[in-house]
Amino acid sequence: MVKERHGKPRKYGKGSRYCKRCGNYTAVIQKYNLLLCRQCFREVAEKIGFVKYS
Ligand SMILES: [Zn+2]
Repeated sequence: MVKERHGKPRKYGKGSRYCKRCGNYTAVIQKYNLLLCRQCFREVAEKIGFVKYS
């Protein structure tokens, strides 16, 4: 059996999801199955014509 040191894998909760575009772990938007962080979401949203709500 392999003992886990720190850096334990997380399957759920915070830190388990990351931006598939830039790899950022913070503020990842899972809506619409995008899995993008806020910054990438903004860029992508403009390209795909997503309506911005301010
Ligand atoms: Zn990103």
